[in-house]
Amino acid sequence: MRIRYNRETCIGMFQCVNEWDAFEKNMNAGKAELAEADEVEDGVFEREVPDDAEFEAKFAARVCPVDAIEVYDDDGEQIV
Ligand code: SF4
Repeated sequence: MRIRYNRETCIGMFQCVNEWDAFEKNMNAGKAELAEADEVEDGVFEREVPDDAEFEAKFAARVCPVDAIEVYDDDGEQIV
């Protein structure tokens, strides 16, 4: 499973940080930061989701009010 985070879209509501600890608050920027992620496009970050964090990652995506977080299965299909 992979997670994709659009930092440009993020409005810093920080619901995601309560769901998965890979998301951290950056109070100075007013944005979340996704740990251990690669910037694949300007402001867009991706990383693998460990098997034991899939539930948390999906919840982080679900709670984001501006859909800045997407989750993809191993076939590349978006699942959240
Ligand atoms: S829930 Fe969405 S808007 Fe809020 S900090 Fe996380 S990514 Fe940003």
